[in-house]
Amino acid sequence: MEVLLHACCAVCSVECVRALQEEGLSLRLFWYNPNIHPWTEYKARRDSLLAFAGEQGIEVLRRDEYGLRPFLTALGPPPPPAPPERCALCYRLRLNLTASLAAKEGFAAFSTTLLISPYQNHELIKELAREAAREHGTSFLYRDFRPRYAAGQRAARERGYYRQKYCGCLFSEEERYLKSPAKN
Ligand code: SF4
Repeated sequence: MEVLLHACCAVCSVECVRALQEEGLSLRLFWYNPNIHPWTEYKARRDSLLAFAGEQGIEVLRRDEYGLRPFLTALGPPPPPAPPERCALCYRLRLNLTASLAAKEGFAAFSTTLLISPYQNHELIKELAREAAREHGTSFLYRDFRPRYAAGQRAARERGYYRQKYCGCLFSEEERYLKSPAKN
């Protein structure tokens, strides 16, 4: 069974890939993260993911667009919504395209490395991924990868993968450094 695994970065991918391979699943990764800004941050995360995939011999499908403007457009007219509404729009953008690609390319199912992070809104991701699967006529493979988060962080540190300091969008960067109480 082949699964399309949406990958947000190398750090989150390491243990998700390992877990799914341990189940005997074959994988291709999908890079589509228009929420990551600015450009230098986008490039650092993308290149690190590509390096990881190359080492593992895993093919990466890509919708490789730096998405500052499309992302802001997707958030609607200003002011931008706060989490969780902002994150719901962000997840939906990425999960819908992943589900649509999985259906189009005949994958048995899709999943996402977002499910490993304790800092993401896990229940919301699960709900929106199920919705995207229904909408596109494919299957969502749900796994709670969170118990493997620390192992992924360790492996990424040891292998020298780029480790981001904030979730992805410019708003999350501001929240991280201004230490706003807003959570996604
Ligand atoms: S905080 Fe993260 S999940 Fe939420 S909108 Fe920004 S990039 Fe997306």
